[in-house]
This record gives sequence, C-alpha cells and structure tokens, in this order.
Amino acid sequence: MNIVTIIGARPQFIKAAVVSRNIHQHNLEASPGNQIVEYIVHTGQHYDSNMSDVFFEEMDLPKPDVFLGIHQLSHGAMTGRMLEDIENVLLSEKPDAVLVYGDTNSTLAGALASVKLHIPVVHVEAGLRSFNRKMPEEHNRVLTDHVSNLLFCPTQTAVRNLENEGIKSKSDQPYRYPQIHLVGDVMYDASLFYAKQADIKATVGQRIITDTLHGKPFALFTLHRAENTDSIETLTSIIRAIESLSEKMPVVWPAHPRTLSKIKEFSISITKKNIFQIPPVGYFDMIALLDHCKIVLTDSGGLQKEAFYFKKNCITLRKETEWIELAEHGFNKIAGTEVNDIQFSFQQMMEQKPDFSLNLYGDGNAGKKIVSILAKNVKE
Ligand code: UDP
Repeated sequence: MNIVTIIGARPQFIKAAVVSRNIHQHNLEASPGNQIVEYIVHTGQHYDSNMSDVFFEEMDLPKPDVFLGIHQLSHGAMTGRMLEDIENVLLSEKPDAVLVYGDTNSTLAGALASVKLHIPVVHVEAGLRSFNRKMPEEHNRVLTDHVSNLLFCPTQTAVRNLENEGIKSKSDQPYRYPQIHLVGDVMYDASLFYAKQADIKATVGQRIITDTLHGKPFALFTLHRAENTDSIETLTSIIRAIESLSEKMPVVWPAHPRTLSKIKEFSISITKKNIFQIPPVGYFDMIALLDHCKIVLTDSGGLQKEAFYFKKNCITLRKETEWIELAEHGFNKIAGTEVNDIQFSFQQMMEQKPDFSLNLYGDGNAGKKIVSILAKNVKE
C-alpha cells in the first residue's frame, strides 16, 4: 500500500512521528504484500528550524520526500497553492490513500486534493469541534471530516460530533463510505514515548529549570492562535494578565514567531523581568518544561492535553475548547482573554487538585491502532 502523508505545521510533525514509527514497526512484521510505503509531503506552512527541522531530528520522523515551501500567505492563497501542488504530487505518486492530520490549511488542502482525484482520505484527529466558526481551524476540521473515508477520533465526544453532523460509519468498505474509529489521542502516545528520553535530551528547557530558576516553581505559557494574536486588544489583555501573574510566579514562555511579530507590529511593551521569553523549543524541551512546571497557561490545543498528561492544571486562554472533557473534569479552566478572568482562574487553578488518574485519551496505542486499521483496509 502506498500512502502520501501531508504535514506542514508543528503539531502535525509530532502526530505524524507517532504514526510513522508505527508504520515502520508494522513493516518489520508484515509480509511483503502488506507493507505500507509512506511518501511524506511537507507543505512548508511552518519552516523555521525551531518550528520544523527540530521535530524531524528529535523524533526520528522520516525526512520529507518533497518540500513545497508554501508559507506566509493569506488563508485562501496558501490553501489554493497547496491544493495545486499537492494535486501534482498525487498525480505522480498515485497513492492508495492520503493521510492528513489535525486542522491546518495543509490538512484541508491535502484532503481536497485527494478527494477530487478520488483518492481515499484518512483523517487523524477527526471530529474535534470548537463550534466557533470564526476559527480558521474549525473550517479546516469540518470540511476535512466531511470528505474523509477513514476518520480516526481521539475521544468519544469527537465521535459524537461527527454523528451529529450526519457522518456515520456505514459499511466495512471505507473507501466507499466513511468509517469512524475511536483510537485515542496520538499525542498521548507521543508524550509517553518521548518522555522516556526527554530528561537526557532536553537542553534549553532543562537549562531554564535548573540554571535560571534553580528548581523554583514556574508557570508555562504559550500563545499562537490567530484569534488571540491578531487583535491588539486581546493580545494586550493577555500580555497584561501574564505580566501580573509573573509577580506571583516566574513565567516561562516559548514564544511563537507569529505572536512575536504581532507584539512588534502592535508595539506592545513587556516590562516584567520575571517573564522568561525564549524561542520555540523542541519537543524534548517542551516535555521537560511540562514535567517541571507548576501550571500551564495556553491557547494551544495540544498543550491543554499535554498539561493533563504531565499532571498539571491548565488555564485555556480562549472562550471555548475542543477538548471539553478536560474542562468538565476540572483539569482545565476556560478563562477567556480578559485580565480579571485570567487572574481569577489562576488563583482558582493553583488551589485545585484534580485526580489525574482518569483515563481520557486512550491507552497510548492510538498510532498502532491507526496503522493496523489502515493495513486491513488497503484496498477493496
Ligand atoms: N510545542 C513545542 N515547542 C514549543 C511550543 C509547542 O514542541 O515551543 C509542542 C507542544 O508541546 C505540542 C505542540 O507543539 O505538542 C502543539 O503545537 P501548537 O501549540 O503549535 O498547535 P496546536 O496544538 O494548538 O494545534
């Protein structure tokens, strides 16, 4: 079976690393006729070495077979150019299926290019919904799910979301009808697998924890969603809230390039010395920071779950989340973006001690399940 994998953004490298490792494992055990050959397309959506290369190096993700170099364009232009270039790749590679991840423009472009060539689409992390149609990610998810043949869901809520939109498993012929599988979260697999190596391999994160903060408790902060970074009022409000929290506890902030460029564009000042702003870190450093921090403040989808995996309370700097089970069980507080609300949530979550033994995202074998289902459904 030949598959083309489409990736382009940071969280997709992490998710694809899990599935690629399992493909490799499958091929070691499978008969020659049942091997999966993966051809990796990197769209170029994220291209800085610390947003892209570092994940290929650290996570043993096979190097891309082709790099499209498409970035820094408006949504329409970016998605359109990706659609055109991915179509050319698919026409020459003629894969049996196309594998897409998550909710970025690369996901949607990959799904559209495939479906128009009648190539089955496999969506990993299907069914997530924020129900906020202003988020570009929401369109990407909804549209991708509606053209996918195999939909791999991380949670029961995701399965329910698909069913509510009329997407139901209809037969055992996934290449004709959609088939939904609840497999768990591939990022849970990633956190279990790579955590074993993180303490040895983390560099920047480890230095901050030991040399700069000398083991003192700190808050881990990340911010990158367009809905937060592209509004001067919202961005200023979040920064002011973080400044005020930094008076209580040091804040470590691996800063996304988009956020930094917006802070510069809007001339937002950051004066507090207790904020340790660093460039984006690799996955091992992120694991070290998650493992040692006291609390997480973020608008990242992935980080909300990773906070839970590393048994840390989380404050989400948005008005809603796709990972609602975390909020329902008290692991996550949806704080919004107002200074007072963030301060209040911080106080509340510093005291909250939820039971982290709850199993919300599978058994850490999501990648293995995905590959085994893929292999069984090679062709009709
Ligand atoms: N991440 C990382 N380094 C950073 C910031 C994030 O390795 O400096 C990882 C994080 O641990 C998570 C993933 O990137 O696994 C989340 O990506 P992001 O927040 O960009 O996207 P989202 O999850 O919101 O789609």
